Amino acid sequence: MRQTIPHAGEPVRSTCPYCGVGCGLISDGDNLRGDPDHPANRGRLCVKGSSLLETLGEHGRLLSPRIGDRTVSWERALDEVAERFRRVIDEHGPDAVALYVSGQLLTEDYYVANKLMKGFIGSANIDTNSRLCMSSAVVAHKRAFGEDVVPGCYQDLELADLVVLTGSNTAWAHPIVYQRLAAEKKRRPAMKIVVIDPRRTATCDLADLHLPIRPGQDVALFNGLLAWLDQHQAVDRAYLEAHTRGFDATLAQARDGLGSWSGLAAQLGLAQADLECFYQWFAATGRTVTLFSQGINQARNGTDQGNAIINAHLATGRVGRPGAGPFSITGQPNAMGGREVGGLANQLAVHLELDNPAHHQAVADFWGAPALARRPGLMAVDLFRAIEAGTVKAVWIIATNPVDSLPEADRVRAALRACDTVVVSDCVSDTDTLECADIALPALAWGEKDGTVTNSERVISRQRSFLAAPGEARPDWWALCQVAKRLGFADAFDYRHPAQIFREYAAMTGLARRFGKCLDLTAAAALTDSGYQQWTPRRWPFGESERCFSDARFSTADGRARLIPCAPPPAECRSAELPLTLNSGRLRDQWHTMTRTGRAPMLFSHRDEPFVEIAPRTAARFGLEQGGYARVRSAAGEALVKVRFDDGLAEQALFMPLHWTDRFTGRARVDALVPALTDPHSGQPAFKHTPAMIQPWQPRWHGLLLGAMAAPAVDYWARVPVDAHHWRYQLAGQAMPDETTFMAWLPEAEHWLSLDDSAAGHHRRVALDRHNRIIAWLALAPEPVHANLEWLAGCLAQPVADGQRAGLLLGDPGDGGVDLGVVVCTCFQVREGQLRAAVEQGARTVSELGLSCRAGTNCGSCIPELKRFVAD
Ligand code: SF4
Repeated sequence: MRQTIPHAGEPVRSTCPYCGVGCGLISDGDNLRGDPDHPANRGRLCVKGSSLLETLGEHGRLLSPRIGDRTVSWERALDEVAERFRRVIDEHGPDAVALYVSGQLLTEDYYVANKLMKGFIGSANIDTNSRLCMSSAVVAHKRAFGEDVVPGCYQDLELADLVVLTGSNTAWAHPIVYQRLAAEKKRRPAMKIVVIDPRRTATCDLADLHLPIRPGQDVALFNGLLAWLDQHQAVDRAYLEAHTRGFDATLAQARDGLGSWSGLAAQLGLAQADLECFYQWFAATGRTVTLFSQGINQARNGTDQGNAIINAHLATGRVGRPGAGPFSITGQPNAMGGREVGGLANQLAVHLELDNPAHHQAVADFWGAPALARRPGLMAVDLFRAIEAGTVKAVWIIATNPVDSLPEADRVRAALRACDTVVVSDCVSDTDTLECADIALPALAWGEKDGTVTNSERVISRQRSFLAAPGEARPDWWALCQVAKRLGFADAFDYRHPAQIFREYAAMTGLARRFGKCLDLTAAAALTDSGYQQWTPRRWPFGESERCFSDARFSTADGRARLIPCAPPPAECRSAELPLTLNSGRLRDQWHTMTRTGRAPMLFSHRDEPFVEIAPRTAARFGLEQGGYARVRSAAGEALVKVRFDDGLAEQALFMPLHWTDRFTGRARVDALVPALTDPHSGQPAFKHTPAMIQPWQPRWHGLLLGAMAAPAVDYWARVPVDAHHWRYQLAGQAMPDETTFMAWLPEAEHWLSLDDSAAGHHRRVALDRHNRIIAWLALAPEPVHANLEWLAGCLAQPVADGQRAGLLLGDPGDGGVDLGVVVCTCFQVREGQLRAAVEQGARTVSELGLSCRAGTNCGSCIPELKRFVAD
């Protein structure tokens, strides 16, 4: 365990750094538990949050600044960053430099980064990976409400009589919100839940109605809803007249081209009865929440999709009321904090606008900014295009991994490799983006950082440090301030503690209030350092209603909300070359590009290799086998992955998880396949609808390799950590490697155990050190290699026992143990075989499974899979 910071024996309250639910947790040394007093989770944690301690070791951390391959002092590294940025600015102007930051940053880091770039360097070229997940919702909110505000709170999901989940696999991406909903549904079975998703996901487990809509048809669905509401006298005329504008034009657009309800159902790919059921429920249910996420935002018309949802809520007056409202839920832990302090290239701080002269003046005055940017900067995709074109010559990337997460990711990598100056701040030492860095700066990780985050329901919570900073890792705000000072802005960046930054930000929200915005933290502007330290979670605007716009007064100049006419996009046309549609998304137990969850072996027990999911009937058309391999190809790139059948996918549909990078496999970065097509209003890329082709790939040999080695250069490899030092590799290829080749994959050894049947293509090697300890294990065969993986992993670094050699070579202890299959419940490592045994002994419900083998009794993330298991 790492060295902790003494807190006089007190448990430390902090916030989970993964998703936008923003769960509170308590650390007391070696234990972590959910914070029962935190309003987001009330003591619960999902499996990712529960396993945070597993990710905290110092192995794999970036511990010192580097210039090229040289370790240097912070002074030297900061001088170099400032000198390079200064030179580019002097020669090419401020728009030739950029910052690319992250929803992982704390609000204080974000505030300083934005202030430096927009206020003092004088360019708005600061964008964030939040562009990739919720910028369409930002624009939709601004167009409808006059401000980027999520009106409601999580409690609304429990107060609602109808919850519509659209474009959101809530069960996996926001597990604690899902569990709150599941608990309420159990308490109040009459509550209705509708899931709108082309895939039947784990979230559908809770649904009274699943609408497997065709991809890209959400505007048509919600336009149809608006027309239905009007036709069935379900719009709130009084609310529309008193508090909104734009209804008539929006309704006219919704009706345009709308024929019969049966025709609309056919267009959407839905049964007419299901479509009408949804419309009737929505029309009849005052307390309706529509929760939307990446499936809505990550589309070429993501902004319109968001507004089409909000239109239906405004038309029924269901905004800012208990149990009613549109609810955009964010992917990242501090996407909301970043939005508040202006972390996007097309906004100023505190919800003010770059192109509004009064806003501009107010911000310039508040900061004393000599050169506040006047026009929007480059949004993420355009920013990396500008780097490719050489117009942006120096970029500082903080806490994000664009080589994996941006569309056309191979192009992004090539652009960074060719860029004059790439600075990367990260807490880990080995990412696909760091590989492109000229200068690497070691950042603090979760557990070491100190600051605030805002979750999806506007609750500001503290992340507190309880671990000492390893090596020379430093806070990101500190590194930004040090560079700012070297650029000549010492007075404006003389912060010594995050509390100072938070106070300044809180005071700055007075400008938002002055311009009629909801964002108001001014009550915290005089917070003392100890008040900051003792901060308990609070929702903004402080001291007011739980919900924004509950008085139907919006943040527009006239106080009225706007309904926005949204035209459906042209029908998707597939080509013969790319006849399928590739969707991407999250897995239950992984996070982003695995830079953190990839350090916890336990989190790979749910899914341990990159894969593509496909419906069995589609797979049959393309000659694919369950568990086989496939090449997935798009206009932008190609991947080589395993095949998983999933009958929850539509015909023509593919799904790949977004997590795998070149650190964990050879070729499965899904964003290398995604074309860089963006929403015209938000600049958000369309990650969900990539035209693609799939074909089987048949290896001639398979392999299994364990040890501390780097990845072999073979056609297919995928690895998972066994512990802090060892990996387990799955390998496959076309040309069988000869002995010289495969021995080169293995470490130097003192002794070897070998077994060869060259004629049959079977080879086994066990490498032992001078103490007879196992340092590597390899098996190659023409067919997939089976071994007792858990037992083998436990043998690494252990001495070979007498009588163990034969078993070792076979990869099986020979104790008669049976393969229990994949892990379903990660918390208690319960495998399929154990669940099957429990069912054979009479378990018929999820609760009975829990009583029998504990499955599903901790975080609950596996409950949808347990239900399906019982049903099967
Ligand atoms: Fe963390 Fe999200 Fe899980 Fe809560 S739901 S514990 S914030 S990953």
